[in-house]
Amino acid sequence: RHRAAFEAATSRGFVGGKVPLGIKRKGLRIVVTGGAGFVGSHLVDRLIARGDSVIVVDNFFTGRKENVMHHFGNPNFELIRHDVVEPLLLEVDQIYHLACPASPVHYKFNPVKTIISFSSSSLIFSNEFSCLFDLMESFLLSFFLFDNLQDISFWVVMLPLIQLASCCGLHKTNVVGTLNMLGLAKRVGARFLLTSTSEVYGDPLQHPQVETYWGNVNPIGVRSCYDEGKRTAETLTMDYYRGAQVEVRIARIFNTYGPRMCIDDGRVVSNFVAQALRKEPLTVYGDGKQTRSFQYVSDLVEGLMRLMEGEHVGPFNLGNPGEFTMLELANVVQETIDPNAKIEFRPNTEDDPHKRKPDITRAKELLGWEPKIPLRQGLPLMVSDFRKRIFGDHFDVNP
Ligand code: NAD
Ligand code: UDP
Ligand code: UDP
Repeated sequence: RHRAAFEAATSRGFVGGKVPLGIKRKGLRIVVTGGAGFVGSHLVDRLIARGDSVIVVDNFFTGRKENVMHHFGNPNFELIRHDVVEPLLLEVDQIYHLACPASPVHYKFNPVKTIISFSSSSLIFSNEFSCLFDLMESFLLSFFLFDNLQDISFWVVMLPLIQLASCCGLHKTNVVGTLNMLGLAKRVGARFLLTSTSEVYGDPLQHPQVETYWGNVNPIGVRSCYDEGKRTAETLTMDYYRGAQVEVRIARIFNTYGPRMCIDDGRVVSNFVAQALRKEPLTVYGDGKQTRSFQYVSDLVEGLMRLMEGEHVGPFNLGNPGEFTMLELANVVQETIDPNAKIEFRPNTEDDPHKRKPDITRAKELLGWEPKIPLRQGLPLMVSDFRKRIFGDHFDVNP
């Protein structure tokens, strides 16, 4: 029944959300896991605007209700607090599987930032961590209560625990969570889209990266829980495609930025923008010559929808080929926010990829997709959102 509804809708040629004139599109029932997060919430906006019924499944690990609050009360919108590592029974036509803690504080060695974001944003106030963090949580709370943060032995005990718990949680989400969502897709005959990552290419030996490149990933490094987790998720997705005939789609997303990004998640664009707004130095890791390619979030969402509605499994690189060194990025942030912002160099993290740039030929040819918004145009849109969130509505504090 669901497949029939899906085919009825797609057979009318609705690609990338474009409805041909004169034809009324039948709404689909769509699950977006991780829909309260940065990318997911923008995707939800587009799907709702297109007339679909959307169920967001999110455990609020890094996502926020504020990102989807504007849909509360809309009968086409539902929000379920649920961890995808637990099975889930729903009847839907499509599954966009985005759930995954994607920020580097969850897998890189950045202890102080890690502990600060754990304590202030999640542990103490909202206490929204998955069960994997329960042990750590009680430890942390007791230490906080006794004000032992300055005690070095606290950090010696806690840091490995934090890293272990983070990576286990991440891995479990990528592996068990993806398995569950594939099981759901199989049972109801839904189409399944995995949001994988450019990290599957590791520290690439091929530049720019083409989808046929198998990557250069350290399986035992500090970031391998993310890289290898996503690689396993891709493998599972292809196993369900070949073995259980689930209709699948795989997107390999390159660094994406935009409004609603977590402010203190440690990613470079959010770090630089927040630092410049707060009049703090921009922290460039290493020599700043490593490169990334930054994509504005609306371009990504368009790509994801075209991929879901199209006929091709992928994987597809979805990214903006405009490549910047981190020093160049810092300069663009200075131009956009504060020309006097200082730059401070910090030691780089282990296994940091030296360069990354997508080859998007495949997406251009098969999905008719390419990004439209260059960094200098997208960054100001993100800056006004960050300004409001950091300074409140009276953001002329820091014009
Ligand atoms: P995000 O952290 O803002 O969103 C992830 C969402 O998943 C959050 O709302 C979080 O609460 C939820 N979540 C995490 N674990 C969960 C679980 N076990 N059960 C239910 N919900 C869970 O990150 P994002 O940037 O929006 O990323 C979305 C997806 O895109 C992720 O899969 C990420 O790996 C992928 N991706 C993002 C980028 C990027 O630059 N933003 C790059 C490559 C890949
Ligand atoms: N699953 C789920 N919702 C469903 C169907 C399955 O969460 O509607 C989960 C199920 O609990 C299992 C996983 O998906 O852990 C894989 O399911 P599948 O049927 O492929 O494998 P099996 O249960 O036979 O191992
Ligand atoms: N980076 C930086 N300063 C920061 C945060 C990150 O110079 O405050 C660098 C980081 O070392 C990496 C690049 O920016 O080389 C992109 O990092 P991010 O974590 O945003 O993305 P990823 O490494 O996952 O591509």
